[in-house]
Amino acid sequence: MRYFPIFLDLDKQSVLIVGGGETALQKLRLLVKTQAHIFVVAPSFEPEIVELAKRHAHINLMERAFDPQDAHGKRLIYGASEDEAIDQLAQNSAQKFNVLFNKVDVPKDCDFITPSLVDRDPITVAIGTEGTAPLLAREIKAKLDQWLPANLGALGRQAQAIRPLILERISQGRDRLRLWERLLSGPFRSAVLEGDEAKADQVFQDEIEQFEQSLNQTSETSKPKGSVTFVGAGPGDPDLLTLKALHCLQGADVLVVDRLVNQQVLDYARRDATRIHVGKQAGGPSHPQEEINQILVREALSGARVVRVKGGDPNVFGRIQEELAACQLMGINVDVVPGISAAQAASAAAQLPLTFRGQHRSITFITAATKDQIVSSDVIAFMKAGRPFAIYMGVRLAGEIVKSLQTAGADMDTNVIIVENASCKNERLFATPLKHLHEAVEGFEINGPSILFVGLSYDDMGLMPATNLEQFEASNVVPLNRQVS
Ligand code: SAH
Repeated sequence: MRYFPIFLDLDKQSVLIVGGGETALQKLRLLVKTQAHIFVVAPSFEPEIVELAKRHAHINLMERAFDPQDAHGKRLIYGASEDEAIDQLAQNSAQKFNVLFNKVDVPKDCDFITPSLVDRDPITVAIGTEGTAPLLAREIKAKLDQWLPANLGALGRQAQAIRPLILERISQGRDRLRLWERLLSGPFRSAVLEGDEAKADQVFQDEIEQFEQSLNQTSETSKPKGSVTFVGAGPGDPDLLTLKALHCLQGADVLVVDRLVNQQVLDYARRDATRIHVGKQAGGPSHPQEEINQILVREALSGARVVRVKGGDPNVFGRIQEELAACQLMGINVDVVPGISAAQAASAAAQLPLTFRGQHRSITFITAATKDQIVSSDVIAFMKAGRPFAIYMGVRLAGEIVKSLQTAGADMDTNVIIVENASCKNERLFATPLKHLHEAVEGFEINGPSILFVGLSYDDMGLMPATNLEQFEASNVVPLNRQVS
């Protein structure tokens, strides 16, 4: 992000527009909505500029040539004269007086850029593309304009009016948030948007009274109770989140997050939501499961809406059972939101169907290691029966997998397809015969989370391999750790 979006307070500040033509007029139309003192300097003005100045006392027209001293004391200056030399002079003066300068439509000469605006004053949405694709900004603006009620600003103003009362009557921040959620989505919102002020006022009085009553009831059962929602955050690409996952993230007070979860996904959560990272890193330092269970229970019992964010699908190799049981034991409300599991994303990336009519009636998701065994005996049975499977958490154990399958008499020419970082920007795809799996993992330096598909073949299904799939050839890839220096 090169340009950092902020909202600038222009109340009682001075802004200068250099120019009196169409370009200056466009900026003036925008700025006239602010409370700034607007100075426009040019030897002559478009009639509409003169009109605007007549109607708005905070516009001052200076009918003369730009003087470098004009830059003094301004907050912003727009170079809108449509004359290269004058704009240059304005830019130099802006620099001299340390004022932010914008040369209209010339991003390289701008200290700041003006975003596309969706205006529901005081609710304002600013859209920026850093000058890369103004058309996109227009499209987003059009969509937002359709989506946001025309009267949304009234809701903002009402919220401002009732804020001191809510602050005075509801002492806990978390409770206030719940009340706000109710007000801004329920009958109060409808009444304000309909423009029915008396009704809105009545609804507000009723809502806050009811809410206070519910808080004052002393019995444990009526206290707002926390909850834990287990949310599948998918394999990495934030676009693969479900809408429900998105809503849960947005509503969370506390996020308890796994290591494999893409940070971008967390950007959807409220900025003030507490984030607790409980990364469990294969082979690295990790939070003991017991500690994670305790965090969930502690936060939920304090009344928080906890969202336990897990990579992929929470019910697939997510150790969710222990966390669910800990919450259930304490009577905490739980909910599970499914996500796209890694094997599904890997299959999509490789364009490799998981089932194939007439041949593969099932696919098994299996973890490479159980507590006491590397690939279990059932894997050998699958292989012998020609049944495909997807191995989770397998790459680090590639050597052991090969060894144990070989010992058990598996067909070592079976095709293995490896998908590393499925759905992420650094996604990679490889294929290798089982006998070379270990060399392939080392040779291609596959260290990211990966799925190994065993027993699925493009040839058998009459499909072309994905174009970015790299085939391991024992002869032409020298594993890095065996390279002779
Ligand atoms: N609940 C998760 C799995 C957790 S176990 C799910 O449903 O996907 C962690 C394992 O998932 C990793 O070791 C790896 O085998 C697999 N994995 C997770 N994200 C992956 C990704 N983006 N690409 C390939 N494999 C992934």
